[in-house]
Amino acid sequence: MKIKSSTLLLALLFAIPAATQNTAHFDGQTWWNHVKVLADDKLEGRDTGSRGERAAQAYAVEQLQNAGAEPAGSNGFYQPAKFVSRQIVEKDCSLTLIRKGTDKREPLTLGEDAIISTRIMPAPEVEAPLVFVGYGLKVPEKNYDDFAGLDIRGKIIVIFSGSPSEIPGALASHYQTAAERWKVLRAAGAVGIVSLTNPNSMDIPWSRIALNRARPSMDLDYPEFNETEGAKLYLVVNPASAEKFFAGSGHTFEEIIVLGKDRKPLPHFPLAVSLAAKTKVEVTQVESANLVAKLPGSDPALKNDCVVLSAHLDHLGIGEPINGDRIYNGAMDNGSGSALVLDMAASFKKNPEKLRRSLLLLLVTGEEKGLLGSKYFAAHPTVAPKAIAADVDVDMFLPIVPLKFLTVLGVDDSDLGDRVREIAQSQGVKVQPDPEPLRNLFVRSDQYNFIRHGIPSAVFGVAPEPGSPEQKKMFKDWLTQRYHAPSDDVNQPVNLATAAKYEEIVRALLTNIAKDDQRPEWKPDSFFRRYAESAKIGN
Ligand SMILES: [Zn+2]
Repeated sequence: MKIKSSTLLLALLFAIPAATQNTAHFDGQTWWNHVKVLADDKLEGRDTGSRGERAAQAYAVEQLQNAGAEPAGSNGFYQPAKFVSRQIVEKDCSLTLIRKGTDKREPLTLGEDAIISTRIMPAPEVEAPLVFVGYGLKVPEKNYDDFAGLDIRGKIIVIFSGSPSEIPGALASHYQTAAERWKVLRAAGAVGIVSLTNPNSMDIPWSRIALNRARPSMDLDYPEFNETEGAKLYLVVNPASAEKFFAGSGHTFEEIIVLGKDRKPLPHFPLAVSLAAKTKVEVTQVESANLVAKLPGSDPALKNDCVVLSAHLDHLGIGEPINGDRIYNGAMDNGSGSALVLDMAASFKKNPEKLRRSLLLLLVTGEEKGLLGSKYFAAHPTVAPKAIAADVDVDMFLPIVPLKFLTVLGVDDSDLGDRVREIAQSQGVKVQPDPEPLRNLFVRSDQYNFIRHGIPSAVFGVAPEPGSPEQKKMFKDWLTQRYHAPSDDVNQPVNLATAAKYEEIVRALLTNIAKDDQRPEWKPDSFFRRYAESAKIGN
């Protein structure tokens, strides 16, 4: 880029005081150096349970030790966990639409039309009628029920992924999680889900989703975490092929897309086809671990309390090549967050802060497989469950533009939102709630598992300036081209000043929580407050 020299001079004049004032503890460079190690090709994309992930963990442990952090896992720095891995054997699978009242059968092409998800363990054979149930949500708090008056027993429901505008974003995201959905479906007797991908909220194009469909899914290998009991089929459909499901129903997918774009109410109706599926899945066992380290607090009364700083260390590993590159390095996702945790530990060593509560540094595994490592940790923390005062999660915060705006998920759910707002404002950064609730980001990061255990949690990322179409496009392009692709590597533009400023905000937030007499609190009207109440009763 070319800029006028006078502008450059001005920028330099202002940049120096701003940098010393705002980013006293960070320069962006030490952070980026960690990213470069974690996202190196040698670490092979850090897939859960892989040797690349083990190498990343070894590096992280070394860095945490250098920073003087104490081991706080169940086995030194490690908290081992067991996983089951499921890989589809596509040559032994088939999907067929059967026209009602006829023997007309239309085979679907795997990959092109639909993908059999192994996020659940599919039954070897299933054949059932299809019924379109709109968004397929039941939200008692809002008296919203897509299943009212419908008999879905023994049927496969067809849903349009998304939610109606009358349901607030975080709540809608919560009820779209596998656990919540299957609770409702199990009770109503449905046997499967066909999810029609919402073209308005696709982060990555179908071609890339389909490309890696043979990549294994994972689940925690403990009965207590089985949330999809009774589920026989989970299909994800290419929006370009979804019209096939509507033929003869009196409705079109086109009509659903138009309504869904504005989150309007959707109709409910039986489809004129039923679905027959044959599936085969190869199941193997995998072992991995979370890493847990502690910077002890200094207050005799509060040091058993802790503030968690979490980030996922795992990524997608080696996959199908794109432009000849098979290594999904995951520099931003989430080398960036993991690097921040390591850089933060070093910064507290270099510039100690009298923290009253302890700081727990948590690098989780299995995030890309469905937030599994954090789910395990939140259910079986290596500290007393009641000791965790809050979680600050850092996941792909995307320092790709100057830092002027932060999107804080669940900003109005607890006073963590207020604390972030205040700290950010003091740095000249504005805080905004999630502008894109359809992307369900609230349930797509590890903080959600802390929330489900009643712990106030925050996750926030750099946002484009609302008035800047150019910046908006940069983020959109990043998702389309780099997100979950091999090009999320160290050869991409990054704004080190933004990273430093972001780290400064995280450090100030951790310090604030660790020093405050008061623990962070849920807001009285937050839906998620209920988990804190039930945690109190449970103990
Ligand atoms: Zn990811």
